[in-house]
Amino acid sequence: MSGAKISLDKTKSTTKKTKTMYKKGEGVPDFVLLNQITENDFLENLITRHKSDQIYTYIGDVVISSNPFKKMNIYNESDIKNYNGRYKYEMPPHIYALANDAYRAMRQNQEKQCVIISGESGAGKTEASKKIMQFLTFVSKNQSDRGDKIAKMLLESNPLLEAFGNAKTLRNDNSSRFGKYMEMQFDYVGTPSGGKITNYLLEKSRVVGRAQGERNFHIFYQMLKGLNQAKLTELGLNASATSFNYLKNSTCIDVATIDDVADFKAVVKAMETLGLKDEDQNSIWRILASILHIGNITFKELPDQTVGTSSVGVVDQKSLASAAACLKTDVGTLSRSLTYRSINTGVGKRCSVISVPLDNEQAVFSRDALAKALYERLFQWLVGKINQQINNPEKGLVIGILDIYGFEVFEKNSFEQLNINYCNEKLQQLFIELTLKSEQAEYKNEGIEWKDIDYFNNKPICDLIEKRPIGLISLLDEACLIAKSTDQTYLQNIQNNFDKHEYFQSYQSTRDRSIGDGCFRLKHYAGDVTYNVGGFLEKNKDTLFGDLITSMQMSKDPLICSLFPSPKPEDSKKRPETAGSQFRTAINSLISTLLACSPHYVRCIKSNDNKQAGVIDEERVRHQVRYLGLLENVRVRRAGFANRQTYQRFSQRYKMLTKETWPTFKGNPRQATEAILKAHNIPKEEFRMGKTKVFIRSPTTLFYFEEKREAEL
Ligand code: ADP
Ligand code: MG
Repeated sequence: MSGAKISLDKTKSTTKKTKTMYKKGEGVPDFVLLNQITENDFLENLITRHKSDQIYTYIGDVVISSNPFKKMNIYNESDIKNYNGRYKYEMPPHIYALANDAYRAMRQNQEKQCVIISGESGAGKTEASKKIMQFLTFVSKNQSDRGDKIAKMLLESNPLLEAFGNAKTLRNDNSSRFGKYMEMQFDYVGTPSGGKITNYLLEKSRVVGRAQGERNFHIFYQMLKGLNQAKLTELGLNASATSFNYLKNSTCIDVATIDDVADFKAVVKAMETLGLKDEDQNSIWRILASILHIGNITFKELPDQTVGTSSVGVVDQKSLASAAACLKTDVGTLSRSLTYRSINTGVGKRCSVISVPLDNEQAVFSRDALAKALYERLFQWLVGKINQQINNPEKGLVIGILDIYGFEVFEKNSFEQLNINYCNEKLQQLFIELTLKSEQAEYKNEGIEWKDIDYFNNKPICDLIEKRPIGLISLLDEACLIAKSTDQTYLQNIQNNFDKHEYFQSYQSTRDRSIGDGCFRLKHYAGDVTYNVGGFLEKNKDTLFGDLITSMQMSKDPLICSLFPSPKPEDSKKRPETAGSQFRTAINSLISTLLACSPHYVRCIKSNDNKQAGVIDEERVRHQVRYLGLLENVRVRRAGFANRQTYQRFSQRYKMLTKETWPTFKGNPRQATEAILKAHNIPKEEFRMGKTKVFIRSPTTLFYFEEKREAEL
């Protein structure tokens, strides 16, 4: 058997390799093993696998996942056990294999790990993150009571946060409307010791309005269907969802795939597991109920107008009274805070406060601002409360899981989409850097000669958005400081600044009518997005008038009071940080956190836009494969060596293929590897000997060894 000349004839080895490497008709389990790296070959493999229910495929260490939109029988306890402690190449590709690798690497190297999950809305990120948590909690709980309890709390945080942070959108019935980085903490042997959740930018505008056919956050519908009658009566909620403006205005109440009653039960159970006492739960229901009542408040012009001013009063006294009752605050104060605004005039001793009546538009604005603030602050409090329960400050080892909103392109894109897409640009940049960096670092560590590879760099667009002092965020902040600025003057200013920028377009610079009035377009890595600047300044300032804060501080409910703290005296002179700047800071701190970990990647692909099982829309998938840079990923992985393995593993697996190493061999694994390669006349350019690993250039060589091995067994 030794001395056989290795055949690089691709057709021949392709037909035979199916026997050993994978089943016929199921495609290759790693895109690196494709004979040719073209877009069509890539797609064909992905589609073939998807059709045969193989939803996971690797690019080296990266997991590509295509959403099956149907229940898969691959997430049972027996599957977890099968993947636990195994090596990737021993089993078909699976998200569990990635989770297992992260867990192993964490313990073996005593290093922080992170899993970065990306893909567009509805591609399967949240499901992937839950599968990873499910695997990690199962294999790590270790029968200790404490480990068990922590594992349970970590898992239960999911239904709770999803109820408050997810909603039905046109793209996904359970769309995450906030970003989440969940750190699972372990002790040095790998038993769960705690966890910490960091949340990013909740889409609070959803509380007061959303696109037709979408829903508000799940919890509102769950509560209306799930609370008992007595409680509903107490909260003034004994009415159908359609009687609340904040729920009925998008005409979607029930969703076929969602069981609000069952979900409500799961939420209450999760609240109990996570130590939210009855008192806390009652406050939560009251705050949510108050938001619904606030949404039903409308205003009317008051008759006795002084010339040049207009003032409004509340029409719906009953809704106002219900809101005040739920918030345990005074009706008169609440009413006044919704219709008047106090303004400080003068300075020093001359300082006095005058009360200015609001017009209808301003009153509506302040009403909605209050509802949004209540919801956002409640959400933040909830995350804090969960962290209080689970966070273990004596941090040992960590696996962080990032599940953040995917790239979004809607018909109308606003400030929220700019932030979300900016975040995706940053993560894409990180992916490019880390996958290439780690690949190149491995060659370097192993002492292998390596020529750097060019790749698409999206830094210019990240800079365009985040750079100070001239970037979209900074210029928006500047506009928010100048009293005369409007959304339009902001647009004018960014047009003037970025007229010639490669990734920025406006009607002014292009005369392209598809960029409408009040819009600019960014050429994102994932596609062009046209943003409408309407509301940018207001959303960035995120104003909540002081009167509303004061009226909330008068609440007899300590939780509600605590949601609206007075500014600290040392902060009163500073301008509050804008929403845009806060987000920029949070994202950059997230990036530093991720950079301090060994990364693992899951790239989710949305198979079709209709949430249909068994359907894979080739053009939609092609687009995603393109912008995710998956082909480049395969090329980089292959440019060097398609396969690498430790001498230990290689010699163990193929030792029976030469008489030099079988049945006995006296040398070390490296020498054994060398002996095997030599005996089979593998050409010198086909492999490199690193410090701990052998690097094999083409998949064919590996197939060859696999075939030989199969023949011997
Ligand atoms: P994302 O978080 O990327 O927006 P989700 O993870 O919420 O997307 O997935 C959207 C929907 O797709 C899920 O509600 C589920 O119906 C389906 N789905 C996603 N991943 C899987 C999977 N691995 N198996 C079965 N269905 C899935
Ligand atoms: Mg999600």
